[in-house]
Amino acid sequence: MGLSYIRPGRFRRAVLAVLVGFTSSLGAGHAQDDGLGYRYTPMLPNSNWRVHDRNRPQPPKASPGKGLDRPPDGAIVLFDGTDFSQWEKAFADDADTTIDAKLIEDGAFNILKTGWIRTKRHFRDFQFHVEWATPEKADGTNLDWGNSGVFFHGQYELQILESYENKVYADGMAGAIYGQTPPSANAARRPGRWQSFDVAFIAPRFDGEKLLSPAYITVRWNGVLVHERTEIMGSTRHLTFPNYRYFESTGPIVLQPHRSAVRFRNIWIKPLETGEKNE
Ligand code: MG
Repeated sequence: MGLSYIRPGRFRRAVLAVLVGFTSSLGAGHAQDDGLGYRYTPMLPNSNWRVHDRNRPQPPKASPGKGLDRPPDGAIVLFDGTDFSQWEKAFADDADTTIDAKLIEDGAFNILKTGWIRTKRHFRDFQFHVEWATPEKADGTNLDWGNSGVFFHGQYELQILESYENKVYADGMAGAIYGQTPPSANAARRPGRWQSFDVAFIAPRFDGEKLLSPAYITVRWNGVLVHERTEIMGSTRHLTFPNYRYFESTGPIVLQPHRSAVRFRNIWIKPLETGEKNE
């Protein structure tokens, strides 16, 4: 893929490393490529489970409540169904990173049509809201159907996947910190329905390339608390354990296209006041 128009610097290198990690590892897991997990991947640190462990229990189902949150005072509206002014294409071949507003349909967009996108602004610690919907019918394998994701700082993926009918390894389902920690409950709605993530994200802190404190994430999925200050072990990886290799405490929100027509709407962010610069 053409990468000549990404802004230079550490973010670009770190994102490239993530992408290279995804693609170069695709061949390694063929022996168990049924989407239900692996037996020979590395052990996760501080855990009894391997990366994408096929024996890791699926979380219990939790029926979500009704209603979706509206942006509170002080929130920055990232997408309200009218334009892409807060976003730009990521990893695009063309020099123009503008996203065509004609791609908006019924106040939502399809990530397969936009491709990889990221916020123009960078954020440190924040509260974040996003609504997403998987296709009603499977449009690929169990690992494809509804697959997208929100990459905080462009590094740390909160997984989106059809997880009501569809089953994959626990750390790859919707609401998982991908490849690290499954959600504590499965709050999925039926395929095609709108769902929400409400997130509190605390950025990692570094001294140069030394990790002072990891990132922490709290997530409500359709109103159900599924992560409470879950430690993020590092940049998202596939088939191997994560590590920190992006040594910035701010970054964009990046949305992932992954072979499925996942739709998004109503996205906002509210930087947290931590006494440090937020962008
Ligand atoms: Mg994904």
